Amino acid sequence: MFDIIIIGGGVIGSAVAYELTKYNLRVALFEKENDIATGTTKANSAIIHAGYDPVPNSLTARLNVRGNELAHIICKKLDVPFKETGSVVCAFGEEDDETVRKLYHRGVENGVPGLKILNKQELKTLEPNISDEATTALYAPTAGVISPWEYALAFAEVAVQNGLELHLSEKVTDIKEGNVVVTEKGEYAAKYIIAAAGVNCNDIESMVAEPDYTLKPSKGEYYLLDKSAFGIVNTVVFQCPNKNGKGVLISPTVHGNIIVGPNAEASEKEDLSTTADGLSFVRTAAAKSVPTLNLSTNIRNFAGMRANTNEEDFIIRFVRAGFLSLAGIKSPGLASAPAIAEYVRQLLEKDGLSLTEKENIVDTRKRIRFKELSPEEKNALIKENPAYGRVICRCETITEGEIVATFSSPIPPVSIDGVKRRCNAGMGRCQGGFCAPRVLELIHKHTGIPKEEIVKDKSGSTVLSGGAL
Ligand SMILES: Cc1cc2nc3c(=O)[nH]c(=O)nc-3n(C[C@H](O)[C@H](O)[C@H](O)COP(=O)(O)OP(=O)(O)OC[C@H]3O[C@@H](n4cnc5c(N)ncnc54)[C@H](O)[C@@H]3O)c2cc1C
Repeated sequence: MFDIIIIGGGVIGSAVAYELTKYNLRVALFEKENDIATGTTKANSAIIHAGYDPVPNSLTARLNVRGNELAHIICKKLDVPFKETGSVVCAFGEEDDETVRKLYHRGVENGVPGLKILNKQELKTLEPNISDEATTALYAPTAGVISPWEYALAFAEVAVQNGLELHLSEKVTDIKEGNVVVTEKGEYAAKYIIAAAGVNCNDIESMVAEPDYTLKPSKGEYYLLDKSAFGIVNTVVFQCPNKNGKGVLISPTVHGNIIVGPNAEASEKEDLSTTADGLSFVRTAAAKSVPTLNLSTNIRNFAGMRANTNEEDFIIRFVRAGFLSLAGIKSPGLASAPAIAEYVRQLLEKDGLSLTEKENIVDTRKRIRFKELSPEEKNALIKENPAYGRVICRCETITEGEIVATFSSPIPPVSIDGVKRRCNAGMGRCQGGFCAPRVLELIHKHTGIPKEEIVKDKSGSTVLSGGAL
């Protein structure tokens, strides 16, 4: 019997696992895919929002502001790439100026620190490439950019070290009376089930009761620009939000690229295609903020799926005794993740779950980032382990030593993209064109998985086919 079963290994399920494994509880997490962070968590704008956007006194407002505060602390502790770049919401005319003022007052009410309304000149000084049409902007210094998949992985890796029983590639297919989780591989009873299944929140909830909300999946498409574009903006540059979301942004990424997007299109939840129309909308909207933006440096287009519902707020509540559902965790879900986990812990405690802290827990994490070391440190490392002297991913300068280290991490990767999410191999200009075959060789060598069974990402995405020549 488990105390807690978490369904879903995105940033929310992982953050909940990180929080709850600090206590003397038997906790398991079931994820249908072969890795952590393969859902919406890997395809979003990667912004740790400051918290001026959500409606005051809503759950979202409270959890966003608290999540931002916690991200600053946790990213240092768990060695997750995070840069407090600050953000600007730009106005283009009087109507937008009014929205900027409204957002400023919302932010103040939500408790967001350091907000300031910039005039045209102040905005130009901060963002020299901004359009001359921009009139004012709301500046939020505590907003930042993060590696979303490394955030989720860090939570999950530390949770595993603190006793989480992680079941990857095990889809939850039903929930039976008595709080029994049924998967493709077995049945598991738990005192509490916590559903954190992202856009599948309604499917999981339907296993116990008819959801009292309507899921309205909304797709967002992006451009990811080469590092040569870095510097075109210094902060996260938003336009004023509208009924479809936070609008198109241009932002530095924590890895040194520029991200541009997203649009917002009602969509089937499985449809992660990019489209000519969607990308054309993004291009036109982005040019309004920065007319000199050069999208020919694009290295990848991708799409992510928002778990929007008919409710504006996050929907977090007990659906029945022992079943806590986290639904409608759209933006700012990433920014709010650790605060959502904290809130889940409080709800469980209020429900009567006894929580005693474990005596010894892991609450740190460190990984070697070879290219960030000094020449002396690099030399010493290569002397100790020559695999750090062999560069496998040339675009990102990722060494064999870093790739091999992922196979002895608490959650070893089984796919080429799993390696990428852990050490950035394949994230650069050539998008793995050069290093993917070498990464495949290393996966085979260090995990024993036959080469023809190694996948690019999710189950079924095998890379090699046919017989030997
Ligand atoms: C276009 C876009 C832009 C965004 N930008 C931002 C941003 O800048 N900042 C921000 O704060 N938020 C942003 N968000 C929102 C943020 O990405 C999400 O709130 C967050 O990633 C949700 O995480 P999750 O864990 O709930 O979902 P997911 O990451 O989707 O994880 C859910 C997991 O559940 C698993 N699962 C589903 N069904 C089952 C089952 N039956 N059995 C087992 N496992 C199952 C899935 O495989 C998946 O891994 C954005 C979202 C989108 C789409």
